[in-house]
Amino acid sequence: SYNPPGKHKSPSYDDSFRNAQRVADHYSARSNQTLEEREASPIIHLKKLNNWIKSVLIQLYAQKGDAVLDFACGKGGDLIKWEKAQIGYYVGVDIAEGSIRDCKTRYNGDAEQQRRKKFSFPARLICADCYEARLDKYLEDDGPYDICSCQFALHYSWSTEARARRALANISALLRPGGIFVGTMPDANVIIKKLREADGLSFGNNVYWICFDDDFSEKKFRSSSPFGIRYQFHLEDAVDCPEWIVPFPVFKSLAEEYDLELVFVKNSHEFVREYLKKPVYTELMRRLGALGDGNQDQTTLSQEEWDVAYLYLAYVLRKRGQPGSH
Ligand code: SAM
Repeated sequence: SYNPPGKHKSPSYDDSFRNAQRVADHYSARSNQTLEEREASPIIHLKKLNNWIKSVLIQLYAQKGDAVLDFACGKGGDLIKWEKAQIGYYVGVDIAEGSIRDCKTRYNGDAEQQRRKKFSFPARLICADCYEARLDKYLEDDGPYDICSCQFALHYSWSTEARARRALANISALLRPGGIFVGTMPDANVIIKKLREADGLSFGNNVYWICFDDDFSEKKFRSSSPFGIRYQFHLEDAVDCPEWIVPFPVFKSLAEEYDLELVFVKNSHEFVREYLKKPVYTELMRRLGALGDGNQDQTTLSQEEWDVAYLYLAYVLRKRGQPGSH
């Protein structure tokens, strides 16, 4: 039982700038939650699972001393994960001014934390549109970077081909040869499959709904130019903004044009099944409070939350070339 609003119509001001602004406004307006509010969230276990997935990706690929580029870093929810990986330098970029402000507060700590320095790596936090700005020029003096992370955010670049290309061009230009690009984003195959099974253009459950624009065409999804396929995504206590479908095979070949080669891609369910088998990651899941005892592949997620987890995938790409060569 879900409750989507009336059909989501394409607004007349539907250009990429306005779209990016709507996304930025949505995230900027989201205020920091207290620990109590966070624990009371209807999707608290999903949040814990997503943190676990991001932590596993970071632990798998970050090396001590790495220079890290966090595209769409949000409020800096991953800063502690990078600290645990003992990185050497961090650059976080996000389009939402409010999020960058919160990220700065989190990094600098409050008066109390400032006295006992919280993060051991220097950081630079920038408010910019990662999918529009020439960050390759702007950030090159700090680079090259060993690892770029883009968590739950790359799909915001697929509103136009130019933006999707700018995202990949920025990442590729800033990574060193052999550098790693890790991320998470919606799994278009799962979303389109659910859409096909749905009655109309929307579907969901108690904690989320997705509603496609009236002009959705499966032909466009299957075409060689599947950009701008928009839906409205609502996730209780987390997201309510336009998002874009990213057909993974097209993403993979576009990334190759920018010298980024696929290492792996896994739906979140598969990711959990695979990495939860490893004792070190089982222990991490326990520490995060998301280790269950039987259902949903041994996590504490409700069935509804587990259904949302299925909407996402994790990917790893590697920049061509040998480390040390430019
Ligand atoms: N990566 C963070 C995390 O995992 O906690 C935040 C994820 S949040 C779901 C998506 C983020 O993408 C938001 O902070 C939003 O402001 C950012 N974002 C969306 N479009 C962007 C753009 N064009 N440039 C930079 N950041 C963008």
